[in-house]
Amino acid sequence: MSCLFCKIVSGEIPAARVYEDADAIAFSDINPQAPVHILVVPKRHIVSLDEAKAEDNALLGRMLSVVAKIAAEKQLASGYRTVINTGDEGGQTVEHLHFHLLGGRAMHWPPG
Ligand code: AMP
Ligand code: ZN
Repeated sequence: MSCLFCKIVSGEIPAARVYEDADAIAFSDINPQAPVHILVVPKRHIVSLDEAKAEDNALLGRMLSVVAKIAAEKQLASGYRTVINTGDEGGQTVEHLHFHLLGGRAMHWPPG
């Protein structure tokens, strides 16, 4: 398996982990775009949101709960942004589904 995030899940590649449960892990983004920039990643290899199936709905919901839990732990009470980049035009660079949690500064809209 050559997938970067699968290697982080297995521990083959180190990451600054902030959360782990049976189905998901979260770790700091190596190239942070905000004071808090964390990636929430399913342990199972799912290429993108496009590849998620109806049977993954519960997993996706739990991952959003993990985002909110980490945001609370990071004291992002004044707000944060959650991003899922999908495919080339969506800006996805790692082909293993991940939710970005960005916070600690005011976000802009529209995004770039
Ligand atoms: P995306 O562009 O939405 O696919 O996001 C991929 C994210 O993974 C980017 O924000 C990268 O900075 C981040 N990233 C790439 N390699 C690593 C790594 N080894 N550890 C942590 N984050 C990484
Ligand atoms: Zn993977």
